[in-house]
Formats: sequence, C-alpha cells, structure tokens
Amino acid sequence: MKRVIQIQLLPSADQATALLATMQRFNAACDWVAERAFERKLANRYALHKLYYYKVRQQFDLLGQMACLTFAQVAAAYKRDRRKKVSFRPLASMPYDRHLLHYRDFKEVSLSTLQGRIVVSMVMGDYQASQLGHVKRYAELVRRRDGKWFLMATVECDDAPPVDPDDFLGIDLGIANLATDSDGQRHSGADVERVRVKCQTLRQRLQSVADLAKNHRARKRIRKKLHRRARKEANFRRNTNHVLSKRLVEQAKDTIRGIALEDLKGIRDSIRFRKPQRARMAGWAFDQLRQFIAYKAQAAGVLVKRVDPKHTSQRCAECGHVERANRLSQSEFCCRRCGHQAHADVNAARNIRARALCQRAYSFGLPTAAAAG
Ligand SMILES: [Zn+2]
Repeated sequence: MKRVIQIQLLPSADQATALLATMQRFNAACDWVAERAFERKLANRYALHKLYYYKVRQQFDLLGQMACLTFAQVAAAYKRDRRKKVSFRPLASMPYDRHLLHYRDFKEVSLSTLQGRIVVSMVMGDYQASQLGHVKRYAELVRRRDGKWFLMATVECDDAPPVDPDDFLGIDLGIANLATDSDGQRHSGADVERVRVKCQTLRQRLQSVADLAKNHRARKRIRKKLHRRARKEANFRRNTNHVLSKRLVEQAKDTIRGIALEDLKGIRDSIRFRKPQRARMAGWAFDQLRQFIAYKAQAAGVLVKRVDPKHTSQRCAECGHVERANRLSQSEFCCRRCGHQAHADVNAARNIRARALCQRAYSFGLPTAAAAG
C-alpha cells in the first residue's frame, strides 16, 4: 500500500534561499511548458520532452532531471483536465525523484538545487520514523504558508496480513460521541463540537463585517482571515480523527478482534441524519474518520467489516426487539419489551458488533443464533 508521510526539513537560511530559488525556477519552467502544451494540445510527457527539453534547460538553466520533471508535471496536470490552461504558482510543490534526492541515515536528506546539492536536517514523529524503512526515493518538496519546509515522502509497505477474527469491536459513529464502541467506551466529541461552534460564530461575525465593509481591501483582508480560520478548524478535526482512529484500531488489534462499522454507502445524508444534525455533520469530517480507521486497520492487519445500518439505534442489543420508542432520547435507550437500559450509542455499537458476528457466522455456515448478543 502506498502512503505519504510528512517530514519536516530544517534548512539553514542559505539552504532555504537555495530551495526557494529552485522551487520558483522549476515552477516558472512548468508554467512556460504548460502554456506551449496547451497551445499544441499535448499531454504526453515524452512528446513535450522531445520538443522542449533543450529550450527549458537553456532558458531556465535547470538540471537535466529537473527539466524532465517539468514535462511530467505538466502532462499530469493536463491528463486531469485538458480544456483549461493550467498555471503553476511560484511556490507550488515540487517533485524530487531518485536522481535529485538521497536520504542519509534518515536524519538528513541531500537535495539538488540550482546551487548544487545541499544536505538538510529532517525532523519527524515516531510514526514517520517507523515508516522510513519503506520510503521510496520520491517526494514532493512543500513550502508551507508559514515558511516551514516539508517533504511529502512516498512510502510503500507491506501491510500486516489480515487476521481472521473471532470477534469484533463494534463502533458507532456520531456527534455527541464521535465514536462509541461495543465495550462501552465513549469517545466524546465535546472538544470538536466546541471548536466547531466557536469557528462558526466567528465565521458568521466576520462574514457580516465583510458584507458591510465598503472598500475592496477591507473585504479582502477579512476573507483572508476567514480562510485561515477554516484551515485551522480542518487541521484540528484531522488531528482528532488521527488520534481517535489510531486508538480504536489499537484496541481491536490488542484484543485480536476485527472492527465493525455501519455501511453508509449509498445512503444520503438526509436519510442518515435528522435535519438539525445535518449541518453539524457537514461541518464534521465524518467520512474522514471512517477513512482513517480503514487505512490504519489495513496497515495493522485488522479486518474491517461493514454492516447493514438498519435499525441499529432502535434495536435492543439484549433481546433483539425493534421499536422506535425504545430510544427515549439522544442518549437514552430503554427496551419496551425486556426493559434493558443502556446508553443509546453503546446499545447501537453492540448491535453493530452483533451484526458483524452474524455475517461472519453466515459466511462460515454456522448457526447465526450463536452470534446474537
Ligand atoms: Zn430488549
């Protein structure tokens, strides 16, 4: 499985200048090639190479390999959409392949620049470090808005072979509780909800100020502020999703269980959620959490089973009785038949687990009654 890890670079001031100049020159060359490719309706890197290699090298004084990569970049951009002329921002990310990049003991990386090779220190987290054994010699050099430098490095690793589990950790995803598992543990969404509300109020206030602002520059400034806010909120969400998905996958792996989730494919949000919840769900990157769980589980060899979501919140996990009135409120569940009481999300998570067990029993030809509960 191919994945991308983020490695921070710590260039000296001189090195940063060299990287910046290289990046700008490279993107200027891409821009130049893109214009010609568009005129000639060419999206083939080899055809572009044939036509423009010497011109690019001459005009932009790029290394041969960098010139080659401009054609690859431009061709890839037009493969996505031929109808529109693409342009390259001066600080757009720049590819580094095995001719231009060498890792040295995973503490430093040697990068080609217009000023020759430079050796830059890298820093990374434990996860990134653990992945470095599988790193490919291909990365994208990124300069973030705050001036920090990163390599988005491609790693390719063999996933742990999936274990065929005897049991599942059922997970119910929601808002009040981002995730509730069938062991009864609830992972609160309170932090996320607080940040979301704060960002939303701020956004609305800024928006109304922007609407009132008479001159163009004031409006532009406010819009910039809004963008920054939105980015911050997205980062916070992403981080929360990473932490939570990691915890859930570890929990399943440590107990040699699979993970069971509701299969929400093909179900419109308008059916999935009651109206007041929809706005909150749109704000909350709900699907991102599911994706993170899926790819972390795959890497860890944990099987993910998707089950039919029908009635998971109305069914009693003890006796199987299905009735809308079983669910007293957002958080309370009380079975009208057997009197079983539980947190509504925990009850739902147990139903999800039971359904995964059922499916498994079915696929092994076992009596499904053994899986109830
Ligand atoms: Zn019951």
